[in-house]
Order: sequence, then structure tokens, then C-alpha cells
Amino acid sequence: MSELAYKRTNVYEKADEKLLKEIFDYAEGYKTFLDEGKTEREVCANVVKAAQKAGYQPFEFGRKLKAGDKVYYNNRGKNVYLIRMGKADVAKDGIRIIASHIDSPRIDLKQVPLYEAEQIAFAKTHYYGGLRKYQWATIPLALHGAVILKDGSKLEVRIGEDESDPVFYISDLLPHLAAKQNAKPLGTAIEGEDLNIWFGNIPYVAAENEKDRTVKENVLKILHDKYGMEEADFLSAELCLVPAFKAKDIGFDRALIGAYGHDDRVCSYPAYTALLDEPSEEHTVMVVLADKEEIGSEGTTGMQCAIFTDLIDEIAAAAGVSSAAVRAHSKCLSADVNAAYDPNYGDVLEKMNATYLSHGAGLTKFTGSRGKSGSSDADAEYVGYIRKLFDDNGVIWQTGELGKVDVGGGGTVAKFIAAMNIDTVDIGVAVASMHAPYEVVSKADVYEAYLAFRAFIK
Ligand code: MN
Ligand code: MN
Repeated sequence: MSELAYKRTNVYEKADEKLLKEIFDYAEGYKTFLDEGKTEREVCANVVKAAQKAGYQPFEFGRKLKAGDKVYYNNRGKNVYLIRMGKADVAKDGIRIIASHIDSPRIDLKQVPLYEAEQIAFAKTHYYGGLRKYQWATIPLALHGAVILKDGSKLEVRIGEDESDPVFYISDLLPHLAAKQNAKPLGTAIEGEDLNIWFGNIPYVAAENEKDRTVKENVLKILHDKYGMEEADFLSAELCLVPAFKAKDIGFDRALIGAYGHDDRVCSYPAYTALLDEPSEEHTVMVVLADKEEIGSEGTTGMQCAIFTDLIDEIAAAAGVSSAAVRAHSKCLSADVNAAYDPNYGDVLEKMNATYLSHGAGLTKFTGSRGKSGSSDADAEYVGYIRKLFDDNGVIWQTGELGKVDVGGGGTVAKFIAAMNIDTVDIGVAVASMHAPYEVVSKADVYEAYLAFRAFIK
């Protein structure tokens, strides 16, 4: 191929021993991060802890931020902003923003979840985010979240992650009796109201009243004895089921990582570690770990919440400059995943414009569906700026779009940030089996995303 032609680079093909070691070492930290944080609440708490250790202080409104200040804003324990004030004038240099999300598709408990059928206790659920329901049956599930008890105190829940913990379960039919179900379309073979969680099977035989000798009563007794809960506490709870699997290397060569929730912790981890590791102090940097991306970036902890611009206003006010000027000169990487080209399902992706595993950080100029509907579609000038920045810093990167034209589509937080007059483009990591209970990424891509973010904020 001539030097004039474009060709993707396989990171593993190009990597020397030193880079290879960095890639594999970095992956170990990422795997721990995945296992320790499976919900936005847990990731938020863990990142706040790491930031505090790195000298970050809690931000209070009205605080006069100045060069060198390192602060975090913990938004309701579910969304966190890390801000490091740089030396450059924010009215001219703006803020370097990296925005990723820390929520992932999962199965939430309903507010009145408990029931019993034929002496099996179940919990009703309502799924969160775009998931393929049949994938969530017959796998071990862990229960995570928070319950606000009747007295107002908060109970943090994490059951199913310790080796000694029980796990939870959604059943499916045995093949012997599944002829009718097998004939159904995949999307409706298991429906939303079928995602009922197995909670128990032992009746409360010690009950004085015969009608209380039920399995549900026994579950309530356990919840009360172990956690101080009663049934009404589910009304003010946010409990969810996530896969109980741990992150593991995949394949003989260990090039890949299988885990729950790569989307989008595979960008969140490189984003916040890039900030904590990068010593240069020129630019003001903001790393956003958002919640609610999987359901449209809504609510008080999603990217559309005013807290994002409120914090920029505070940075501008402290410098005595206009917030509009700060935003106009800011630059953002919307750090989110793209679909990895999977030869087993190659017909939904367009080969020349797909992101490939182990070919570096994946830049996505536009998302959306149909005629780019719902996409902020970054301009060539900004993509050109990012391209030069990555090339100058030796970052291995590629470009891709989410699937063939008119096959489907999706969105990210990019459009909400771009709408604030901030140059924004999507960049992240290619994921195979996205939104499945166990997704796959390449260690090489995780590390290149980290290098990309380092280059961006340097
Ligand atoms: Mn995502
Ligand atoms: Mn997603």
C-alpha cells in the first residue's frame, strides 16, 4: 500500500516490549476498578476516594477557584466532576472537558417487588437501559444499591460479589419444553415482565399464624434480621441486579477483557486516571463521570442537568470572566464506546467505517440514526485538531461509526455538551457484545484511550 493510502494500525502488531508491558499493567488496574464499581453509586464513591487521595477537595459553590486548585463535585453520590484549575486564562483557553458515563444497563427492582408463587419468592423488576432481555436469564446476578429506611437512614447494599455471598437469578425454559418459545422472535422470547428474580424457597415455618408460614414471609424475616428492613422500605429504594461475574482476561493471549459494564467504565477509568496522572498544569481540566446516559442523560445526575454549566459558571466567575467566553473556547471529548467489528455479525457493520478491536482509541465523528438524526456531528476543523493532537503525541487511534447506514444507531452525551457551544467529538473504546451482561474490549484500546486523554489535557 502506498504511503498516501490510509490504513488502521493494530496496536499489538506495532507495540514494542515496553508498550506491551504498559498495556497489560494498566489493564490490571482497570479490572480492579470494574470489580469494585458496578453501579454509578459505587464508581462515584471509589473515584471520589481516589481523588481525595490525590489531594482533591470537595467543591463548594462560591469557592474562589484559582490556578493549581484541585476539586471534586460529588453530585448526589451518582455523578462526579473532577476539576483541576490550570494556569492559562480560561476566557481564552477554555476548559478541556472529558465526559464519560458510569451507569450501565441493568435490571432494577420495582418499588413493590416481592411476591410468592408456588412457594418460590420472587422480586419484580423493570430493566434500565437498552438490553436484550434473553441474555439476562440463567446467569448469576448480584444485588446492589441503596435503601432509604423508614427512619431516613441509608442502607448500602452489595450482595453477590463476595465468594461467600448468595447470588440471584432469572430462570428460563428447559430446551425439552421450549418448542413454543423457540419459535418466538428473540426480542420477545423473554419479555420485560418475565424478568422476575428468584429470592427464596424456604417457608417461614416458625410463624405463629399459619397464613404467615410463607416463603415471602421468610425472606422478609431475613431482610429484617440482617438489614433492619421491612417490605415498605423497597418503596424508597434504588436496588438493581447486575451480573455477578468478575472481570477476566479472554483468549489464550489475554489480549481482551471480558466484564460487565465496559460501557462506559472503559472510558471513565482512562478519563479520571489520565487527569490524576498528568502533571502538566497549563489547561483547566474537567472530567465528568455522568449518570443516566443509558436512559437519555436525564435527571439531576445526567449530562443534561444544569450542574454542568453551573460549574463552568463558577469557574468563570472566580476568574472574573464571562461564562459564555469560557464555553466558546472549551473543547470536549465525549468519551464513550463504539461497536467493535465482530466477524460473527459482520453484516450490521460497514467494514471500512467500523472500529476494530486492538486498533486503538475509536473516534466517532457522528452518532445518531438514519440521516445522522440526533447527532451533534463534530466539524472537520475540530476533528482535524484532535487528529493532529493524537498523531503528534503518538496515540494510536481509528475512526468508525455505529453500524451500517439505516441498520440502527445510538447516541451519547456529546450532543448535550455541543449544544452548550463547546466543540465536542466522541472518542472511546470499541466494545464487542455491547450492553450484554459480559462485554469485551481490548486491553490495547483501553490504554490508547488513556494516552489519548493524556494528550488532550496536557
Ligand atoms: Mn455508553
Ligand atoms: Mn450504552
